Amino acid sequence: MNPERIRTILSGKPGKGPVAYWMSRDQRVEDNWALLFSRKIALEADVPVFVVFCLVDKFLGAIRRQYEFMLKGLQEVEATLARNKIPFFFLRGDPEEEIPDFVKRYEIGTLVTDFSPLRIKRVWTEKVASGINVPFFEVDAHNVVPCWKASNKQEYAAHTFRPKFLKLLPEFLTEYPELEENPEFPEITASSGESEVFPKVPKNGSGTLFPGEFLEEKAGFLPELVPFEAGEKAARKVMDEFLINKLDSYSTLRNDPTKDALSNLSPYLHFGQISAQRVALKVEKTKADMESKRVFLDELLLRKELADNFCYYNPSYDSVDGFPEWAKKTLNSHRHDQRSHIFTLEELETGRTYDPLWNASQIELLRRGKMHSYMRMYWAKKILEWSESPEKALETAIYLNDKYELDGRDPNGYVGIAWSIGGVHDRPWKEREIFGKIRYMSYEGSKRKFDVKSYIAKYSTL
Ligand SMILES: Cc1cc2nc3c(=O)[nH]c(=O)nc-3n(C[C@H](O)[C@H](O)[C@H](O)COP(=O)(O)OP(=O)(O)OC[C@H]3O[C@@H](n4cnc5c(N)ncnc54)[C@H](O)[C@@H]3O)c2cc1C
Repeated sequence: MNPERIRTILSGKPGKGPVAYWMSRDQRVEDNWALLFSRKIALEADVPVFVVFCLVDKFLGAIRRQYEFMLKGLQEVEATLARNKIPFFFLRGDPEEEIPDFVKRYEIGTLVTDFSPLRIKRVWTEKVASGINVPFFEVDAHNVVPCWKASNKQEYAAHTFRPKFLKLLPEFLTEYPELEENPEFPEITASSGESEVFPKVPKNGSGTLFPGEFLEEKAGFLPELVPFEAGEKAARKVMDEFLINKLDSYSTLRNDPTKDALSNLSPYLHFGQISAQRVALKVEKTKADMESKRVFLDELLLRKELADNFCYYNPSYDSVDGFPEWAKKTLNSHRHDQRSHIFTLEELETGRTYDPLWNASQIELLRRGKMHSYMRMYWAKKILEWSESPEKALETAIYLNDKYELDGRDPNGYVGIAWSIGGVHDRPWKEREIFGKIRYMSYEGSKRKFDVKSYIAKYSTL
């Protein structure tokens, strides 16, 4: 394994107990560098490896659909780990307290976690580090080129990131080794692939909160209709279907929201139920159209990893302060421009504006839990047009994106929204009202690109 994927958070002499992998962003057993690294150091020290997950009651506005998708995926993780004789511990509460407690209770000798550039996980990681006294490592199991290695600063745009990224790619885009099981420690094995841990989740005062009541609490105003099956197996099925049936036409059809041309991998990539590296290795091996392969890999690798770069190096990744200077300046000079409409959050959330195309995109989001990528740009830009300020627009777009997108609460989301509203990774365009020099998108422009009427008809009602 390339050692540059791993960073030492706390050094020191390992304890005699097991190695624990605190799984967070990368919720899978297969193709997981953080688990492979944990397994490797456990074998070297002749101790078992444990996996631990800590469920928090609130996570960046997530509602039932995301929790349900995640928990189903974790049930599969538990069963797969059991087959590899690796115990899975499911905790609830604040990781900054629960993980150090766990380390003490099970006399963990070394702790490993996966990397996320988002504030919430970075704070947890820091606080966990201050509550333990065993070695603690962080592994970038999400990016192909580790975020800290790809660049040592915030990149201005894709064209500044691309040469650095492509130079390093061959070094990191390698095959994964097999995960070895825990053969020497059968007595700690969770049984047989059945879910053993979930029924044992600690009870919360008045009774069991999980999963039924826990999920009920997270329910929104909608019945949950999300048509994505969760978990690693489902993710591989979605990948295979894309490679066989859709990749060939990706470069020509991907901007048409009436076509089923995208991979639909984002929910799985977001929760780490599939590794982007595995998808890239598979794409490289197919005989699909070369241009489609190139365009798809540019999104899956370069755009996605550029989003991590932005969130990692820009502490204001989810606020207007994080926009480039030219964008802040132009938005400021149009701050007091007359808006033709200002919609309330409720009108936006329920898809009740005067624009049937925008309403359809919001209904797609509510119904499917995944808006088409072309429509996401249009959607966010219209929120800028219909909000009293860029700050309010950003807040509303992040709120709705994180609440309803299965793949929300992700660097890709913060960057996609900041691109649409704040020119991040983009350049100045022709100046106009409200937007200033931020790139504009219109209903008329969309009509020239695809059959707007058919998209509206598809998503006319909830
Ligand atoms: C306003 C706005 C909000 C967005 N919110 C999110 C979000 O919350 N979560 C999210 O994962 N993506 C987000 N995106 C990026 C992109 O729209 C989605 O990744 C894409 O629609 C996911 O669908 P797919 O997997 O079928 O896409 P495909 O086109 O099949 O792409 C495959 C993968 O490539 C990556 N990718 C594709 N486009 C981009 C992009 N523009 N930037 C970074 N990576 C990309 C994603 O990991 C995606 O899963 C947003 C974009 C915009 C403009």
